[in-house]
Amino acid sequence: MTRALEAEHRRTLWWRTAGPEDAASPAPAPPDGSRVDVAVVGGGFLGLTAALHLARRGRRVAVLEAERVGSGASGVNAGFVVPNFAKADPAAVVKRLGRTRGETLLRMVGMGGTRVFETVRENAIACDAEETGWLHVAHSPAALEVLRVRAEAWRSLGRPVRLLEREEARALSGARLCAGALLDESGGMLNPLAYARGLAGVALGAGAMIAEGTRIDAVEREGADWRLRHAGGSLLAARVLLCTNAFRTGVARRLADAVVPLQVYQAATAPLSAEEARRLAPGRHPAADTRANLFTYRLDAENRLISGGMSMLPVGAHARMGRMISRRLADELRLPAVPPLEHVWTGRAAMVPDFLPHVFEFGPGFLGGIGCNGRGIALTAMLGEALADASCGVPLAELPVPSGPARPLPFAPLARIAPSFAIAQARWQDRRIGREA
Ligand SMILES: Cc1cc2nc3c(=O)[nH]c(=O)nc-3n(C[C@H](O)[C@H](O)[C@H](O)COP(=O)(O)OP(=O)(O)OC[C@H]3O[C@@H](n4cnc5c(N)ncnc54)[C@H](O)[C@@H]3O)c2cc1C
Repeated sequence: MTRALEAEHRRTLWWRTAGPEDAASPAPAPPDGSRVDVAVVGGGFLGLTAALHLARRGRRVAVLEAERVGSGASGVNAGFVVPNFAKADPAAVVKRLGRTRGETLLRMVGMGGTRVFETVRENAIACDAEETGWLHVAHSPAALEVLRVRAEAWRSLGRPVRLLEREEARALSGARLCAGALLDESGGMLNPLAYARGLAGVALGAGAMIAEGTRIDAVEREGADWRLRHAGGSLLAARVLLCTNAFRTGVARRLADAVVPLQVYQAATAPLSAEEARRLAPGRHPAADTRANLFTYRLDAENRLISGGMSMLPVGAHARMGRMISRRLADELRLPAVPPLEHVWTGRAAMVPDFLPHVFEFGPGFLGGIGCNGRGIALTAMLGEALADASCGVPLAELPVPSGPARPLPFAPLARIAPSFAIAQARWQDRRIGREA
């Protein structure tokens, strides 16, 4: 890992709690000039899931990871398993894609949590997975009405989602602003770095190759194949999957140009007392609320409180965000004293303007997957399979995910600073709500 990336990873709670790396360790780059059926660029949840499906179908597949497995967002996220969209409502998805395609995508996304926990169970991945369900807390009566419609839409698709009125929601959540909640029983939480390492172990066991320290700088057409170039040589692949999320290193830039990067901070406290943990989350549900500047919280296996936020300015952000997250925890959860923060860390998420997952085509058989929008744990479990399907010959038009040529965002430099303005606006709205509450 580069020194800067490793320094950030060492700040995370997961670095301390994920346990030792799997004994079946990934290898260095495949020998120069070797050829595989599918080359997967990026060893996060998405690349590892795609590789696992491909290996199980007998494909010769190599994951090429610039750093270490889980070096990206997969190793630093908050571990909420949330099987829905960050912003897009089911009705909006159907309106945008039409009933058939919209409902196909919704069914796929809705299955994400169930699939994650199945994978964890079936492969005995030790990642502190808790299939508790996920709570979306309405901060106001108006927000509860939005959740009521949303819960009904998911129920009509067969998902185990229900609306909790104020009293029931308050019994399950310690949140100060709670007018009710949506409970998706197929959600939950886990230790993301342990899950990523576990996925890598399962993919290796299924026959995938995983090469760490292999940054792909270029992918070029060569006859009917693709040549992937890295500092130590190159390899050929019939098909390529770009699973590099928000990174801009080497060939990753092709995908990154289509997304808005979002710097997200997380903090974890020292463990709470068992009594306090029971008060805040008697069912141990991870929770997020409906505000624009959303408030999130969960417990880890040892009852540390984990919450997050976004910073408008990068300078001095770790210390500032730590203080801000701590104050917000005290305020939103009415904690007489917040236990000291043990960890404050950051990572880069990738947002897509329409908040939907996409498969992008860079050339014949050269695809990229993106669009997890802060829901990547559940979503990659499904999107990875869709990418594997496409690499095995399923036409793009038959995938459950919108697909097409990659389109760089217009005004890309502006897109990169847009989140700062969005955060400022969300905080302003938040302060207004705080005054009204
Ligand atoms: C702080 C934070 C909190 C989050 N919280 C949650 C949450 O609670 N729940 C949730 O569902 N989602 C959450 N997310 C989003 C989630 O983490 C991501 O959607 C998910 O991890 C994306 O997985 P991925 O495999 O696509 O990308 P990544 O995990 O980012 O993996 C991309 C990989 O590509 C590698 N790479 C880059 N360039 C190259 C190259 N040129 N050659 C080879 N390899 C390369 C990188 O080293 C990296 O390992 C959060 C994100 C952040 C940043």
